[in-house]
Amino acid sequence: IENNELRLLYQPLVNNSGEVVVGVEALCRWTHPQRGEVPPSEFIPIAEHSGLIIELGEWVLRRACTDGKAWPKLTVAVNVSPLQFRRTDFVHTVERILAETGFDPARLELELTESTLIGNIETAEAAMRRLKALGLRLALDDFGTGYSSLLYLRRFPFDKLKIDQSFVRSIETASDAAAIVHAIVSLGRGLGMKVTAEGVETADQQLFLRAAGVHSMQ
Ligand code: MN
Repeated sequence: IENNELRLLYQPLVNNSGEVVVGVEALCRWTHPQRGEVPPSEFIPIAEHSGLIIELGEWVLRRACTDGKAWPKLTVAVNVSPLQFRRTDFVHTVERILAETGFDPARLELELTESTLIGNIETAEAAMRRLKALGLRLALDDFGTGYSSLLYLRRFPFDKLKIDQSFVRSIETASDAAAIVHAIVSLGRGLGMKVTAEGVETADQQLFLRAAGVHSMQ
């Protein structure tokens, strides 16, 4: 962070016909001067264990809000780590960064995973309602890989459900993955949420997901 070695890449999200880019997800990358590309699967867990994820998360949010101002029609999604979300000053930090950058909260989407909510129901719910009061949206990330608790879906005010890419990858070859995707889409839609499929890479996947009723694809 101090040496300015981090940067963000923006992965596009398109509408269900695949023709219009509707948003981006900010993904952090680190190019070390000696070690080269350090994969996020390596440095994010270390940042989480050392507590540096707080600083890193703030850097990512500020950068994404700053960059996002150049794309007035797009939603900008930012991942929030459990440690960040559990801080009592998290909502205040988000509010401060929105004010500092002048980014429109209606275009910001924060992505949480189920592990963020576990054992933390009361305070998580309160924080989520305060975040939504700022005007931003909340997405449940990697759905299908964790507990996939239906209670959580009912209780927490999520606007969007993101289907994990592991299901998308096998929809053409495994009928069980296809059945799970159909079930998640109808669940999300039934609860009034938008549904996004992650990791869509082929035209066949896009056709399948569109027919299944997914709203957007990443
Ligand atoms: Mn994500």
